[in-house]
Amino acid sequence: MIQNQQGTLPDAIADIAGVNSFRDALVEAGLLISTGVRGLFGRSGQFERVVEALDALITRLGADQQAEVLRFPPAMSRPEFEHSEYLKGFPQLAGTVHSFCGGEQEHQRVLQCLDSGEDWTENQKPTYVVLTPAACYPVYPVVAQRGPLPEQGRIVDVFSYCFRHEPSLDPTRMQLFRMREYIRLGTPDQIMAFRSEWIERGTRMIDLLELPNSIDLANDPFFGRGGKIVARSQREQNLKFELLIPIESPEKPTACLSFNYHMDHFGLLWGIKTHDAEVAHTGCVGFGLERLTLGLFKHHGFDIDTWPKTVRDALWDHA
Ligand code: ATP
Ligand code: ZN
Repeated sequence: MIQNQQGTLPDAIADIAGVNSFRDALVEAGLLISTGVRGLFGRSGQFERVVEALDALITRLGADQQAEVLRFPPAMSRPEFEHSEYLKGFPQLAGTVHSFCGGEQEHQRVLQCLDSGEDWTENQKPTYVVLTPAACYPVYPVVAQRGPLPEQGRIVDVFSYCFRHEPSLDPTRMQLFRMREYIRLGTPDQIMAFRSEWIERGTRMIDLLELPNSIDLANDPFFGRGGKIVARSQREQNLKFELLIPIESPEKPTACLSFNYHMDHFGLLWGIKTHDAEVAHTGCVGFGLERLTLGLFKHHGFDIDTWPKTVRDALWDHA
C-alpha cells in the first residue's frame, strides 16, 4: 500500500511497490513513461514510430480486403455497451466514465475531501460514455443499422485505444493500449475462410519482423465460476487462436495477435442478417500494437537503428 493525497491506494493500482526488470529498462531508456499507475504509460517518439510503422504494415497486409475503414474515439455509448453483454463475461475489465453531477454544495464537499484526503468521488455519477474494451465493439450496432449484409458480407477495419482494468507490473499488460482489427461479417464459411487466411498472413507478418512466434488455441478471461465453463466451451469449439511471442517470459509467451470466431453471438445480439436473411456470423483478427512494439524492442534491442536491416526495411522501406 502507498499513501497519496486521497489516502490509501490499493496495491493493485500503485506502480511504485513492484519491480519488473523489462518495464524498468523500458522506462529507463525513455521508451515508456511511467505515470505512477500500473499499466498506464506515456510513449516516446521512438515507440510511436514503431507503432505507426506496424499500423501501416497491417494496412498493406490487408490492402486486398476492401475493408471499410471506421474510426471511433476510445469510448462507446453506454446503452450499446450494456446491450453488448460485455458485463456478462468481463465485468472485472470494464471501465465506465463518471462525472461530477452535483451543485455548489457538493462542489464544496469535493474540495474539502481533497483537502483532507477523504474520498471525494461520492458525487461522481455514471455518464453515457463507457471506455471501449475491444476495438470491434462499436462496429456491430453501426453495421446492424444498415440492414442485411451484401452477398459477399463485409470487412471493417478499426483502430482504437482500448481500456481493460487489469493493472499489472508486466508492461505487455496495459490498462490502455491500441488494438487494430479487421472484422469479418457474413456466413460461417466466409468467417472460417477469413480466419485461416489471417492466421497465415499474421504469421507471415511476424516472420518478416523476425520475431519467434507460435499459434495456440486460447480462451477469453470470462469472469467467475460460470466463466470457467464458458471458457472451456470456447476452447472445445476452437473459437479463439492467438499468435504468441515470448516477450515478458520465455516460458509464458504473450498473445500479440488474436483470431476470433464469435459464431452468431453478435449477429443475434444486434440483429445482423446475411443477404439471404440468416443470422450473420462474425469474426475478427486483432493486432495488439503495444505488445508487437514491445516484442520488437525485446528481440532487436532498444535502438531502432541497430535492428536487422531486413526488419527495418519491412517496417519503413517497403516501396
Ligand atoms: P490476454 O489473453 O493476454 O489477456 P487476449 O488474447 O485476451 O489477451 P484479445 O481480447 O484477443 O486479448 O485482444 C486482442 C489483442 O489486444 C491481443 O492479441 C493483444 O495483442 C492485445 N491486448 C489485449 N489485452 C492487452 C493488454 N492488457 N495490454 C496490451 N495489449 C493487450
Ligand atoms: Zn474483436
